[in-house]
Amino acid sequence: MPITFESLALGEPLQRALRDREYTTPSPIQEQTIPLVLEGHDVMGCAQTGTGKTAAFALPILEHLSDNPYKAKPRCPRVLVIAPTRELASQIAKSFTDYGQHLPFKSTVIFGGVGQNPQVKALQRGPEILVATPGRLIDLMQQGRLNLRDLEVFVIDEADRMLDMGFIHDVRKIIDKLPDDRQSLFFSATMPRSIIDLSEKILKYPRHVRVTPPATTVEKIDQSLCHVAKTNKPRLLEHLLREQEDGLALVFSATKHGANRIAEQLNRVNINADAIHGSKSQTARERALANFRAGRISVLVATDIAARGIDVKGISLVVNYDLPKEADCYVHRIGRTARAGAEGRAVSMCDELSHSLLKDIHKVIRMEIPVVDDHPFHNEPTDEMRNAKPQPQGGNRGGGGRGRSGGRGRSGGRGRRSGGGNRGGGGSARGGSSQGRRSSSRRQTA
Ligand code: AMP
Repeated sequence: MPITFESLALGEPLQRALRDREYTTPSPIQEQTIPLVLEGHDVMGCAQTGTGKTAAFALPILEHLSDNPYKAKPRCPRVLVIAPTRELASQIAKSFTDYGQHLPFKSTVIFGGVGQNPQVKALQRGPEILVATPGRLIDLMQQGRLNLRDLEVFVIDEADRMLDMGFIHDVRKIIDKLPDDRQSLFFSATMPRSIIDLSEKILKYPRHVRVTPPATTVEKIDQSLCHVAKTNKPRLLEHLLREQEDGLALVFSATKHGANRIAEQLNRVNINADAIHGSKSQTARERALANFRAGRISVLVATDIAARGIDVKGISLVVNYDLPKEADCYVHRIGRTARAGAEGRAVSMCDELSHSLLKDIHKVIRMEIPVVDDHPFHNEPTDEMRNAKPQPQGGNRGGGGRGRSGGRGRSGGRGRRSGGGNRGGGGSARGGSSQGRRSSSRRQTA
């Protein structure tokens, strides 16, 4: 029998708010997380935005407050949620207001880039729930305008993006100020080693929950693989983009510098492109995304974390210029095309050094990506290349993970393919893709 919100132990005021919003069925992350949070467990959740993650923590937190309905003291919130960007923080705060509309609790949001006085006044009014970006939170704590001694629940959302944007030191400072006796919830879309290390500092005996993108999105994607020498990748990319008659293209690069370089190379051959990654300011990223959405640029080059949350209709081609270091990411990347029932195409480039990454992807998707070998830059792999040991990863691999996918080879069309094409879903992969790095854009985003 499907689980309903009524069967979860949420009180009438929350049930009413859910009915107001016409939410009938909990999403998978909500189904798994809500009971654990209500039982008081710490939770480590692997989920992306768009899965219903916010309600998965906001609803049981509001239920906890309504079971213990005392007012927070001025400047001493009972719940703290930290998020990497002001947009996400505002969205989370709005969710608390919406879901808590029939409850007496106050929430407020604080972030940088705007005057602090209204935020100081709002803290003075004693909100039970505080949603914040790390930089402004620390500023206000250091000024003595905020005290976390009464904190009961701490949530960190999009932890991987937080690290990618350079917030690791700020996050550590915040953790140091939290009372030991608290419940902690930790959400991240990927689970690299750096994220697992951070979670271990925050969580006690956590329960793990994980949701993966729906398999149906990848079944519609025409996947192919090009073997190419590393030096020929720019020319193959240009060839693929010129071959694509219309629609937008999203190109994935392993590094931020690589993303900049690819975009520059494309602009030099008159293909309008821009790059987005964690070292660009929020404003620059939003501008690039708006230009891409409007079709003013036809190619966006992105790193994995920056591409998170890109939900742009009309992406007809995804190119894995570099194969992802974490095989789970392959499914997330190619899921950017074929949105809303449309067909999409995903081409992956495998150079002489990337065969071990390719093997990992094949394990996760339980099929071999069909090879296209009649493009001008085909580089037939030797046995030596195929059997090469994995490249050093700089220590950012790790974590448990599962990826789901289905795939479909398509014969004819753009080239001859060889290799397996059996469909399947499920499998194991080690998760993770990003390393924390301090970014100069911090003050612009928090
Ligand atoms: P989130 O992943 O938290 O950003 O949520 C994604 C979207 O799904 C938001 O617009 C929510 O309002 C919506 N949503 C969350 N939970 C449910 C649900 N159980 N039923 C319908 N919509 C939902």
